[in-house]
Amino acid sequence: MGQDTSSRRHDPVVSCSACRGPALHDTTYYCPIKPDDVSLFDQKPWLTVQRIPETEADVRVRYQPGRGAPSIHDLDLPLTYRWNHAPWRANTRQTATGEATEAVVTCLRCGTVEARFVDLPAEYFFQIDYRGKALWAPSRSTAEDLLEFIEGDDRRRLPAKDYRTGERASFLSRIPTEFLTAKARDTVVKRLRKRLEEGMP
Ligand SMILES: [Zn+2]
Repeated sequence: MGQDTSSRRHDPVVSCSACRGPALHDTTYYCPIKPDDVSLFDQKPWLTVQRIPETEADVRVRYQPGRGAPSIHDLDLPLTYRWNHAPWRANTRQTATGEATEAVVTCLRCGTVEARFVDLPAEYFFQIDYRGKALWAPSRSTAEDLLEFIEGDDRRRLPAKDYRTGERASFLSRIPTEFLTAKARDTVVKRLRKRLEEGMP
């Protein structure tokens, strides 16, 4: 994984729990394996075999990415356990406001690397509050699109892309109207700009 910001401008950015700076996250994956296959994973970097207590037959392998790890798609795996051949799954759970996924979080500012659950959209770095409501964008590029849109003179022109997903969609309909009033505009723009500055590693 490259950690430079320019190549990961479109990647989701979350807040580091140590310094509150911008951090990237890479999902941890698990795959059940046959007990006889344990030795296939000996000495494989980024992979750990785990036995689930009290269920002797239940063995799984964990892929926990770290600095310099290849993506799971490019990982050196035994043929039958490659990404497309085996049921690799992320570890997710529902939260009050969204979904949390187990991941490795790497801070771009202080360098802290932390394995934890990431709760999205609650933990997105590019996020501002206005009168108790949250406006967020996952990545630097979507946050810039959002700023440009709110700052723009012609609100009637629908952007081609949804600022949150980067996919073609109705953009206006997804921004809470509180953020789009003439009264809100200066404050919202100021806060978004500040957040973009704070998001520089
Ligand atoms: Zn940090």
